[in-house]
Amino acid sequence: MGSPAEDLIKKAARDLANSHHAIALTGAGISTESGIPDFRGPSGVWTKNPEAERRAYRSYERFLEDPAGWWEERLTSPGVLGDLGSFQPNRGHYALVELEQLGALKCVITQNVDGLHEKAGTRNLLEYHGSTLKLRCTSCGSRFRREEFDLDRLMRDKQLPPHCGRCGGIVKTDGVAFGEPIPSDVARRSLEEARKCDVMLICGTSAVVYPFANLPRTAKQRGAAAVAATIIEVNAEPTPLTQEGISDYLIQGKTGQILPRMVEEVKGLRAKS
Ligand code: NAD
Repeated sequence: MGSPAEDLIKKAARDLANSHHAIALTGAGISTESGIPDFRGPSGVWTKNPEAERRAYRSYERFLEDPAGWWEERLTSPGVLGDLGSFQPNRGHYALVELEQLGALKCVITQNVDGLHEKAGTRNLLEYHGSTLKLRCTSCGSRFRREEFDLDRLMRDKQLPPHCGRCGGIVKTDGVAFGEPIPSDVARRSLEEARKCDVMLICGTSAVVYPFANLPRTAKQRGAAAVAATIIEVNAEPTPLTQEGISDYLIQGKTGQILPRMVEEVKGLRAKS
C-alpha cells in the first residue's frame, strides 16, 4: 500500500486513462513553481497586500472612464505580478502537455494570464481571463500579439489608447480585469467543455473567482440523463470545491510534483493495455 497521495495519483491516472473527454482547469497555483506568486495562497499578492486587491477591483472602471490614462499607468508602473513575459513553464505545465499528447486530456481551460500553457505547448487551450501577452479589441473582440503595437511610441506621441486595425475600436490588454465581462467566445466554449467532460482535473486554484468557479459546478450538476463528471483537485490546500463535496477527491500537494507522477502512471496503464 502506497502513501495516501500516491494511491490517489494512481486513481486519477486510471480515471484519466478511462475517460472519453477529460479536461483540465488551472489557476495561479500551477504557475507558482515558475516563480509567479498566486493571489490567495499563503505568500499570495492579495494575502500580503490587501490594498493592491482593492486597487485591482477598480481597474476596469478606470479603463472605461479614461482608456488613455489607464494605458499610460500600465506602461509606466510594474504590474502586480511583474513582467510576465520573462517567466518559463514548469513541470506541471509540461505534464498537462504530455497528457494532451497521450490523448488523456482534450482541453485546458486556464484562469492564468501568464501565457505559460501556450509556451509549454498545450494545443487546445482556452484562456478564460485572457493573456497579458496579448491585446484585445473591446469592440470586435479581435486579439493581437502585444508586439503588433509599438505601445511606447504611442505613449510618446500621446496617441494612447491603441485602436483596432480592423474596426477602429479601443484596444486593451487581453487580460480580463475584475468587473469586466469574460469575452463571449471563451465563455461559450468553456461552458461547452464543462458540459461535455466526463473527467475534470482542477489544478492550483482556490476556486473562488466567478464565473470560472461555476465550471466545476456545471460539470457536477449535468442534466439527469448524463452522469456527473469525476472531479479531481490537485491543490496545496482544500478549497470550497473540496469542502462542498463538488470535487470527488483532493490530491494535496504541488502540481509540479503530482502532475508528472500522474503522467508516468497514465503511460504505465497505456503500456499494459
Ligand atoms: P488563487 O491565488 O486564488 O489560488 C491559488 C491556489 O493554488 C491556492 O489555493 C494555493 O494554495 C494553491 N497553490 C499555490 N501553489 C501551488 C502549487 N505549487 N501546487 C498546487 N497548489 C498550489 O488563484 P486563482 O484561483 O487562479 O485565482 C486568482 C485569479 O488571479 C485568477 O483569476 C487569475 O486570472 C489571476 N492570477 C493569475 C496569475 C497567473 O497568471 N500566473 C497569478 C495570480 C493571479
